[in-house]
Amino acid sequence: FLTMAIESSCDETSVAVLADGRTVLSNVISSQIAIHTAFGGVVPEIASRHHLENMNRVVEQSLTEAGVTLDDIDLLGVTYGPGLVGALLMGVATAKAMAFAKDIPLVGVNHMHGHISANFIQYPDLKPPFMSLIVSGGHTNIVEMTDYGQCNVLGGTRDDAVGEAYDKVARVIGLGYPGGPKIDIAAKEGNSQAIHFKRVFLEKGSLDFSFSGLKTAVLNYLNTEKQAGREISVPDVAASFQAAVIEVIVKKAIEAALDKRQDKLVLAGGVAANSKLRCDLQAECDKHGIRLYVPDPVLCTDNAAMIACAAYYKYQTLGADDLYLDAYPSLAI
Ligand code: ATP
Ligand code: MG
Ligand code: FE
Repeated sequence: FLTMAIESSCDETSVAVLADGRTVLSNVISSQIAIHTAFGGVVPEIASRHHLENMNRVVEQSLTEAGVTLDDIDLLGVTYGPGLVGALLMGVATAKAMAFAKDIPLVGVNHMHGHISANFIQYPDLKPPFMSLIVSGGHTNIVEMTDYGQCNVLGGTRDDAVGEAYDKVARVIGLGYPGGPKIDIAAKEGNSQAIHFKRVFLEKGSLDFSFSGLKTAVLNYLNTEKQAGREISVPDVAASFQAAVIEVIVKKAIEAALDKRQDKLVLAGGVAANSKLRCDLQAECDKHGIRLYVPDPVLCTDNAAMIACAAYYKYQTLGADDLYLDAYPSLAI
């Protein structure tokens, strides 16, 4: 059973082919990072145009690498939200055209369910239920997955997402876009205790997050130092910022798992590629007898393989969508 899926919610045009929902035959990712770097972030209209230019080539490359043709595909999956509307529409329109032309069932996939599903590819034996921490460019959530495609949201960010905070702080300390990987690397040379940034836990027992205050605290620190004529250590700021974020998300994820008596914790989203987060979360999980699941970095950031996997399971439980499927930019988890 072959599933082909398209991901185009932001600035990656990706197409993958999977066998039986978990075996990756191809996962072609065409990133636009170099194009958007000049603007310091993703420009939506430019992203849509590049999806349009790249789509057919990426589809063909994905089929070729998998050694199959479109006639062999049994199911089509596509990200229909959340994301940039124009970018999403490129994937949705392409998937609908292929589904109509070849009479292949089509399933619309929630991008966030895709991020979680990256773990089903990485760990062939992983099954729900489990606790999941989702940390990406636009989302920060703690969810309890009760079954494939089914979850209870226990907490979320009240302002910025973790990835967004990384990207914004990277910009103000001059590391550029995309900031996450750059802060990850710079922090390795820095002292995480050089500057104390407040850890924001909110009300006792809350699994929600807030990172906009931290972003402001970094800005205030930079301004104060500049006014005093002191030199700023970029690695120290990166390491101290990162320590404040990671301490909070690790504590809350562990608390959620213990609270709901889940002994499996699944990490998902682009920030799951962060080396310190992976390391600190593993150490805390070990202390509490929780098994940690983390995808390889390439499966953490946007890719179509995770979308194909989620499509496969959604099709088993809910069947196909019709060709009225539309992009839904603010789709909730
Ligand atoms: P969403 O999935 O919420 O719609 P998105 O698709 O734009 O948002 P992802 O592709 O999942 O986000 O992840 C991109 C984010 O991950 C960016 O904010 C990027 O800075 C961050 N990121 C990537 N690698 C790392 C890393 N090593 N350390 C920290 N952050 C990282
Ligand atoms: Mg991206
Ligand atoms: Fe994403």
